[in-house]
Amino acid sequence: MTRLYEVTQEQRYLTLANYFVEQRGTEPHFYDIEYEKRRQSYHVKPSGTPWMVENKAHSQAHLPISEQRTATGHAVRFVYLMTAVAHLARLRQNEQQRQTCLRLWQNMVQRQIYITGGIGSQSFGEAFSSDYDLPNDTAYAESCASIGLMMFARRMLEMEVDSRYADVMERVLYNTILGSIAFDGCHYFYVNPLEVHPKTLRSNGIYGHVRAVRQRWFGCACCPPNIARIFTSIGHYIYTPCSDALYINLYIGNRVAVLVGEHTLQLLMSGNYPWRDEVEIAVESAHQSSTRSPCACRNGAARRRRP
Ligand SMILES: [Zn+2]
Repeated sequence: MTRLYEVTQEQRYLTLANYFVEQRGTEPHFYDIEYEKRRQSYHVKPSGTPWMVENKAHSQAHLPISEQRTATGHAVRFVYLMTAVAHLARLRQNEQQRQTCLRLWQNMVQRQIYITGGIGSQSFGEAFSSDYDLPNDTAYAESCASIGLMMFARRMLEMEVDSRYADVMERVLYNTILGSIAFDGCHYFYVNPLEVHPKTLRSNGIYGHVRAVRQRWFGCACCPPNIARIFTSIGHYIYTPCSDALYINLYIGNRVAVLVGEHTLQLLMSGNYPWRDEVEIAVESAHQSSTRSPCACRNGAARRRRP
């Protein structure tokens, strides 16, 4: 919806997107109303409970987003939701939504993330657990959650070009996301633990979600097409364009032409990163931009990251 607004500039799309975000967690609760309307019937019920009604935190609907303090609930849903909140915060220049993004980002990347960039450590509910509960062997760390984390990082960079968001993006891409697909391009990990004992998997139920090798497909097949999507849209993540600058987030070989100020900046990036720590960036533009307009991003002091 926020992307539709950017394309059309129709205010109603932005208003509706903001309604979806701000309505969550308010009383009377939508889930409760629907539950009663449907004569207390429900579709998904892990543990025999009306899941959406009794565990609203699982879908980040337990509190208004402005009151949430920790990354919680289903990890993929969380980062998808926060991607939208960060996008809204920039489009609406809304300080409260920006503070929500900063607070929840900080909790997630300082206390609830694996060294690989995996998030959502528990298999039950494919969800976040509590601060620092990051077991290596029973880790869930769904591939889709890492992809969603890249999306969230991209929108944070567009809001304020700070290299710490690009650092997380890079860590996730080169570890969990690339690690979740085989060289043949046909086998995948849905779950990305940091430690696996193949002989133990079949005999211990706590590893029921773990596979020792990448699989051809899954009954719930969200991750394989999501991996394809992130690779085919990687151009959105390599750079963060601003009105007077172009920030480089990922050192991936490419050629690009971007309007900066009144001139088109053309770059050729090459090298063999991450296998070699040398990246060459050639400016191919015929003219240097001399007209500088104020950068729309908040932190103009953010530096270009070194390989
Ligand atoms: Zn998935």
